[in-house]
Amino acid sequence: MKPDGTVVIVGAGQGGVQVAASLRERGHAGPVVLVGDEPGLPYQRPPLSKRFLLHPQTPIELRPQSFYERRHIELRHTRVTSIDRSARRVRLADGDTLAYDHIVLAMGARNRIAPIDGITLDGIVQVRTRDDAERLRTRLQAASHLAIIGAGFIGMEVAAAAARTGIATTVIEAIHRPMARAVSVATSTHVADLHRAQGTTLRLGRTVVRLDGDRTGAVTGVRLDDGSLVPADLVVVGVGVTPAVELATEAGIDVGDGIRVDAFLRTSDPHISAIGDCAEFPSVHTGAQTRLESVQNAVDQARCLSACLTGATTPYTAVPWFWTEQFSTKLQIAGLGQSYDESTTLGDPATGSFSVLLFKDGLLAGVESVNAPADHTAARRILAFGKSPRREETTADGFSLRQWADRHCRNQDRTAAPHDSADARVGLTADIR
Ligand code: FAD
Repeated sequence: MKPDGTVVIVGAGQGGVQVAASLRERGHAGPVVLVGDEPGLPYQRPPLSKRFLLHPQTPIELRPQSFYERRHIELRHTRVTSIDRSARRVRLADGDTLAYDHIVLAMGARNRIAPIDGITLDGIVQVRTRDDAERLRTRLQAASHLAIIGAGFIGMEVAAAAARTGIATTVIEAIHRPMARAVSVATSTHVADLHRAQGTTLRLGRTVVRLDGDRTGAVTGVRLDDGSLVPADLVVVGVGVTPAVELATEAGIDVGDGIRVDAFLRTSDPHISAIGDCAEFPSVHTGAQTRLESVQNAVDQARCLSACLTGATTPYTAVPWFWTEQFSTKLQIAGLGQSYDESTTLGDPATGSFSVLLFKDGLLAGVESVNAPADHTAARRILAFGKSPRREETTADGFSLRQWADRHCRNQDRTAAPHDSADARVGLTADIR
């Protein structure tokens, strides 16, 4: 792209804001227009299912207004409704059109609507936006029985926040353990025990048949497949997301499970890129087209793309990592180890601090660290350089992941992982790191 070209960023969330910031950091001189369809200043979502539910004053804005003004980033509160690729213009819901040299699609994802009988009853909520979280916070103050459908990260985080309010909480999950798609059996078991110890009921291996309501249309309970009824005057549905791809589909851009991009985050149109929750990219860590839903992925892809748009030719290779906070437990996950075939646990889960090392075909694929940040940092270093301890080594008494990383990944950190930029992301507050 020419150095004074116009970049239109669709979606003013975690990835979109980072692209705008990084383009300016890298000296891009042309217009940068950030179009977002949510009201207010762009904000981060992670606190919405955690601290923000209990503490309304929690700061969630990614950057203050002055940040955009000083960097000449034009923030437009409207929706991009279509892309005219031959004229290189986008149409906005407010009737305007914008010419572009390059478009960045950073449109995120939407919560999946569960096709359950009774899903439109009053008292059934989801958590995606700031408005959703504010509504849920208000409802939590008035309700007496909360049911959460789905024991993924968001469902379990909401359950942990709700436990602090004293509301009777039941989590319903079709799989036999919480967060099963993302973490190992050992970590799932630990998290389930934490919740039970706080008085939360887990109905695992059960599916929802329908939602019951009263004559006023308010929800009264959740009927399960074993015939039992979970009483509830508030229901949170957290059953996953679907990527926001419609704009790309309608513009004739390749879409799979997300907008398809290459290793440089370019779509099938070289003037359009896609990043974050809505993009499906070739991952060097899975060896396949992959779509991830995490702050790290959105931010690191934004930084990589900004580098490419300002002259670099570096593919996206960052090590994926995630985190969740529940009660006083911080779980950090490095890599993608879900399809592991062997594991080693370092430390004793009973102490509340341990790490699970996940191996696939003899190689380290992921590390889950529970209140063990030094292990998490070491794991990211090891995975960034494609190294792996042998599994037998990790079972020896006194094995330390940090020492192993110090021995095997020394002095390479700056060269081998240019986009694994843990220390340079936009707007992350200390409490969510
Ligand atoms: P988003 O940040 O979602 O931004 C996309 C924006 O684009 C949205 O504002 C959307 O409204 C807008 N948009 C869409 N279409 C258009 C259009 N046509 N025109 C204009 N604007 C448009 N991740 C973690 O790593 N750790 C966590 O602890 C964590 N907790 C989370 C808790 C909650 C409640 C939620 C919902 C998510 C959480 N995530 C967490 C996931 C993380 O927030 C996302 O992966 C991340 O925000 C993705 O960034 P993004 O830029 O791709 O999309």
